[in-house]
Amino acid sequence: MGLELTILGSNSARPAYGRFTTSQYLNVGSQAFLIDAGEGFQLQLNKFGLKPNRIQNIFISHLHGDHILGLPGFLNSLNLGGRTKPMTIYSPPGLKEWFTLFQELSTGHLSYPLEFIDLTSNSSQVVLQTEEIKVTAFPVEHRIPTYGFRFDESLKEFNIDPDKIKALDLTITEIKEIKSGMDIIREGKRIPFQDIVFPRKPSKSYAYCADTNYTDLFLDLIKNVDLLYHEATYLKDMTEQARERKHSTAEEAAKIATMARAKKLLIGHFSSRYKDLQPLLAEAKEIFQNTYLALDGDKHLI
Ligand SMILES: [Zn+2]
Ligand SMILES: [Zn+2]
Repeated sequence: MGLELTILGSNSARPAYGRFTTSQYLNVGSQAFLIDAGEGFQLQLNKFGLKPNRIQNIFISHLHGDHILGLPGFLNSLNLGGRTKPMTIYSPPGLKEWFTLFQELSTGHLSYPLEFIDLTSNSSQVVLQTEEIKVTAFPVEHRIPTYGFRFDESLKEFNIDPDKIKALDLTITEIKEIKSGMDIIREGKRIPFQDIVFPRKPSKSYAYCADTNYTDLFLDLIKNVDLLYHEATYLKDMTEQARERKHSTAEEAAKIATMARAKKLLIGHFSSRYKDLQPLLAEAKEIFQNTYLALDGDKHLI
């Protein structure tokens, strides 16, 4: 299946230099996820040819404006389009009240079921699991309650080599066991399931860590991830401001990627003080070579 990420917005605080505020679109097979909802992201969906109606689940890291101000406009547009498919939004508490007030003062009615799920746990929790994907939310460290998200492709059953079914005269029960990864016993001898099945593609994973202070708090939860998005609001000469505002520098994002043994790092949530982003990229690459800038419109196949 594979996961495909499109960056819709990459700036912090407010749009600047053609960069929208934080929002991402993750294709996960039969549906898409929206991760954060910066102002005007629906314009980006149009621009990059992405289908709004594929989105059935929205993951909001926290309630700062640069991550939620696009939400009322988007939910309203779906309503105008006569959507009937349900939508679920995961976020720290408060979003439901915020949106409900707007909705009551405005049109008062939505054409589709909208559910809000509050994230309140102070440890990691699986918030969604389908045949295609598992989503884990975990607390990060910011000025208000904030969560990161890890997306793991669900592993499919093993496929059995049909020649082996004949040769070993496998029963239905044995076939089921082998498909789920169990060995079988023949004449007292163990036959490893790996000898009977075709090799399986490894599950791909993506972790989204924004906005967050530089911390190893969630390091175990992002270990060995294929793609890591970590915020990098500032260059390292702004470390003091980063600590004060509970953000990270490009160098710190690269340190986290190294410690997590991530395969690839994507940095974003750039401060509006930077028109040119190359110094941020260079700073991160000094520590973690396989780093990319999260640029509006860029796609990353995971
Ligand atoms: Zn932000
Ligand atoms: Zn924030």
